[in-house]
Amino acid sequence: MNAYKEQSHIVQIYKRFDLVLERGKSVYLYDDKGQEFLDFAAGIGVCALGYAHKGFNEALKTQLDKLIHTSNLFYNENIAQAALNLAKASGLSRVFFTNSGTEAIEGAMKVARKYAYNKGIKNAEFIAMKHSFHGRTLGALSLTANEKYQKPFKPLVRGIKFAEFNNFESVRAKLNEKTCAIVLESVQGEGGINPAQKPFYEALRKLCDEKDILLIADEIQCGMGRSGKFFAYEHFGILPDVMTSAKALGCGLSVGAFVVSEKVAQHSLEYGDHGSTYGGNPLACAAVNAVFKAFKEEKILENVKKLSPYLEKTLEELVQKYNFVQKRSGLGFMQGLSLSPKVKVADVLSKARQNKLILISCGKNDLRFLPPLIIKKEQIDEMREKLEQSLKAFV
Ligand code: PLP
Repeated sequence: MNAYKEQSHIVQIYKRFDLVLERGKSVYLYDDKGQEFLDFAAGIGVCALGYAHKGFNEALKTQLDKLIHTSNLFYNENIAQAALNLAKASGLSRVFFTNSGTEAIEGAMKVARKYAYNKGIKNAEFIAMKHSFHGRTLGALSLTANEKYQKPFKPLVRGIKFAEFNNFESVRAKLNEKTCAIVLESVQGEGGINPAQKPFYEALRKLCDEKDILLIADEIQCGMGRSGKFFAYEHFGILPDVMTSAKALGCGLSVGAFVVSEKVAQHSLEYGDHGSTYGGNPLACAAVNAVFKAFKEEKILENVKKLSPYLEKTLEELVQKYNFVQKRSGLGFMQGLSLSPKVKVADVLSKARQNKLILISCGKNDLRFLPPLIIKKEQIDEMREKLEQSLKAFV
């Protein structure tokens, strides 16, 4: 069947790139004509282990033949192991598995509302950040500071205020007695790659402690090793009360999670307060466990730590060399290059695809680099070569 036929039967929300992808191997993708592409997008930060990873795929195949789904009415070893892995890696205590990132955010919002409710606060409010992205369901969309995304879907969740990212005074000015949580991406992604600053994050932690409100770290894009640590908040020496994960947590199997401290667990959601038919099923949790196993055996975090200075240097050199490449920003393998308005990012992406490099965009006019976490130094060089071929067309 012709893949383009989907245009008649799929709700037309995505402007897809003009490529039909058929398979992947390591950090390369192959289209229906057999052309090879170097992938620096990883399915929007999902495929941390690249494609056709042997251990990961074997674990899934084994689980497929054993048990795919049971519902959360039963015990299963996989969910217990996956929760332990995630609790240990995050430094937090208890996990609820979801099917996507946006659902993890919805759950985190309910946790915060319930925590406040138990203290006698009704109609609790949130503080989120400008240029944030937290997902597309109505709750997560309410936390996403993008008028274009929000406008047709109002009314959204009430009582959400947007503060300046990395500006503590701006956050404090929005605080009131109904605030139940401060929500931020440890490294902003969709809105433009922008890491939190340590003093800002520390001040938020302190404020949340003083006021007994929850600090919610959205680690859906920047977490699971992308920053060189399991979770990006570790770079800032803080521990949130709640964190959300997804994307690389299942490396392509749809799984997300919100994870809470023991204190929050004891004072928020109880039996019957939340649920999910699929969330944390045996197959999804087999994926999570296979991801953690591969991270350990293949020293994935070490690879990110070792190579991210080289990736940064490579991108900085492009800033020096091309006057329309204005700025690099990022942390680890989550990097952005801001382009001047005279060169459209979509045109650069298209040129890059002609040169067999897959990249995506973010922010106003930025290139976004989210390679699989298994890339090698030679592949950073290969990316540079292909990107430079593409950038030269705009000089
Ligand atoms: N939060 C962040 C930081 C994200 O980057 C995303 C997706 O890009 C989401 C939440 C939503 O995740 P999902 O698309 O899995 O619902």
